[in-house]
Amino acid sequence: MTRPDQAAENLLRVKEKVRDASRVVVLTGAGVSAESGVPTFRGAGGLWRQYKATDLATPEAFARDPRLVWEFYNYRREVLAPLEPNAAHRALADLERAKESFVLLTQNIDGLHQAAGSRNVVELHGNIWRVRCSRCGNRKEDRRVPIPYPPVCESCSGMLRPDVVWFGESLDPDVFRLAYQALERCDVMLVIGTSGVVQPAASMGLYAKENGAFVAEINLEPTPYSRALSVSLQGKAGDLVPQVVV
Ligand SMILES: [Zn+2]
Repeated sequence: MTRPDQAAENLLRVKEKVRDASRVVVLTGAGVSAESGVPTFRGAGGLWRQYKATDLATPEAFARDPRLVWEFYNYRREVLAPLEPNAAHRALADLERAKESFVLLTQNIDGLHQAAGSRNVVELHGNIWRVRCSRCGNRKEDRRVPIPYPPVCESCSGMLRPDVVWFGESLDPDVFRLAYQALERCDVMLVIGTSGVVQPAASMGLYAKENGAFVAEINLEPTPYSRALSVSLQGKAGDLVPQVVV
């Protein structure tokens, strides 16, 4: 645990770095969404019916039982639909408007950053409010709750799936390239609300630091990367992010 005076000093240091930076990259994870009430569906209490998310959010589950996977995603849509951005989302949207170059990388699929006004968002794991054809790859926004079953592609009649990256799938190569370009070019990076276990996002902070950026982590608790980054701040994103980006 960081001493209180040390914590205040660290906070001030991050605030100054953010203020002086012209090229900023932010990476957000589940911790930011959690403060808006988004459940993770992983770990204890994260069950839907008797299933774990890790058993349903996979290409194998979709091939085996697409109806069941769609029922799970319709349930998730229902949970997400009324949720709203929190103070961290709003502060990051403000920060984007103040910077010459700003890229927001997110592991979250809920669209809350865009709802808060963020524009340059790179969605590492896709977006639950989009569907994608499992045959021809066509994508489109579809915010219906629920999506009627079976959802069928207008161009090829293939089965539509949620446009999200499932367990065992790799990131879209275009998204991957955009993310790494931004990491190589930024002066300051903030890593917010990520547990530091889901790759490649977990190592992105280190990558930016190796490329010369000042990298600060904001998370409820220390992560495996805390000591390797420039500064680690512990606390709620909704409290800390507005303080460092003013
Ligand atoms: Zn299609």
